Amino acid sequence: MSAPNKSYDPVEVSALQPDALDAARDEALAAIAAAADLDALKQARLAHAGDRSPLALANREIGALPPQGRAEAGKRIGAARGAVSKALKERQAELEAERDQRVLVEESVDVTLPWDRAPRGARHPLTTLQERMVDVFVSMGFEVAEGPEVEAEWFNFDALNFKPDHPARSMQDTFFVESEETGLVLRTHTSPMQIRSLLARELPVYVVGPGRTYRTDELDATHAPVFHQLEGLAVDEGLTMADLRGAIDAFVAGMFGEGLTVRMRPSYFPFTEPSAEVDMRCFVCRGASAEPGGEPCRTCGSEGWIEIGGCGMVNPRVLTACGVDAGRYSGWAFGLGVERTLMFRHGVEDMHDMVEGDLRFTLPFGTEI
Ligand SMILES: [Zn+2]
Repeated sequence: MSAPNKSYDPVEVSALQPDALDAARDEALAAIAAAADLDALKQARLAHAGDRSPLALANREIGALPPQGRAEAGKRIGAARGAVSKALKERQAELEAERDQRVLVEESVDVTLPWDRAPRGARHPLTTLQERMVDVFVSMGFEVAEGPEVEAEWFNFDALNFKPDHPARSMQDTFFVESEETGLVLRTHTSPMQIRSLLARELPVYVVGPGRTYRTDELDATHAPVFHQLEGLAVDEGLTMADLRGAIDAFVAGMFGEGLTVRMRPSYFPFTEPSAEVDMRCFVCRGASAEPGGEPCRTCGSEGWIEIGGCGMVNPRVLTACGVDAGRYSGWAFGLGVERTLMFRHGVEDMHDMVEGDLRFTLPFGTEI
């Protein structure tokens, strides 16, 4: 800052000229009025009221004036700065009010909008049905076992007594994981869990293994490339077909109610010997549709019986492959189709309904079936 100078003529300091001061003030007021938002106002404040603004610079020059000129110049500059400061304050308040108003509008939540138009969805009936099936066996003391969906061929075929050239192996229509040398497949049934359970658990073993399985079927009304099975396995000393029959009777009673007869028909699976297909009495017509003069029944196709799965005594070769003493222990196993059970238990006629994810299909089942 310059030192006071008695010969200094304030008229020659242009920034302190009344006209220049008025111009600087008017320019500042115009810029403030024109500021459309708080950011623009901040810029105007820096330009017209900041340390480098014309009015601030003029204010600094007051000290350089001769004493007789300071009061008058100080008064004029003070008035100009006061006007600018007041305008800034007012504009700031206006813009803040505008912003608050805008935020209220833009960020408001209309609490009267309906919130329940979007369907909430439902657990898939295959999931809830599978849980229900598992629960029936858990109530009999079975444990739940799980296994990988990408499975070693040895678990899926070899250990289950499918010989390399066994026709059943090609009948399975397997998805192989590239390349074939990996020896990995998408499991074609839940039966590998029999092997995994026997290898991993202490005897006796009582397990059920629900899960997804894969075969190269095209999707149509009754087939799908991905479907679900419930595997059951019991290995203990002295188990017979009578125990198997008793477990299946209890399952049918648990799922469909008391009083429905179960029958077994001879069949063949490499991993059970002897093997059987299991039918239960139709829970709708209770066999009446198959009697002479009986009303037709859609649930069983007027057969009187419904096929529910396959079963049999565990082939001693399978026990041996798992290191179990087949002379001391025996076992039985069964496999139930979850999709199939959903179809006949709930009158679902087309497999497409189960895979399309249409809420109009899943919602009516709720979360319990
Ligand atoms: Zn029937």
